[in-house]
Amino acid sequence: MRRFPIIAALAALVLALAVLPVFARPAVVSAAKVPPVALAVPRPVAARFPSLDPEADTAHALLRELAATYRLLDGVTIRIGATPRGEQAVAYYAQSEIVVSPDHAASLRKIVRHEIWHIIDWRDNGRIDWGESLPPANAADYLK
Ligand SMILES: [Zn+2]
Repeated sequence: MRRFPIIAALAALVLALAVLPVFARPAVVSAAKVPPVALAVPRPVAARFPSLDPEADTAHALLRELAATYRLLDGVTIRIGATPRGEQAVAYYAQSEIVVSPDHAASLRKIVRHEIWHIIDWRDNGRIDWGESLPPANAADYLK
């Protein structure tokens, strides 16, 4: 019984649309005033969330590009997330993971192109010995 008013409203609307003269276009616009329940069409989840995190998508693309260019980057992962001490990004080289703060100021490209070298530094000889001046002068030695 509680549905009756909505059904009645829809029936009235259908009837009104059916008998409206063609020139009475504004009446169609008034259909938007029908309660949302009557007009809500469920959308697929994918349509509401075309991408969960576009910046993460960009980070993954940058990493893929660099892994196709340089050796020693197989299996490295990257994500956007919390970093210690408010760092813009951090390379967990032993875990092969790069984390970029969502609050980073430098460009994502610049950050990824820096952080990968901490991982290459580590994988190269099991030591971190290149410091922060990255990429290293001999970066070309690591081209694929
Ligand atoms: Zn660094």
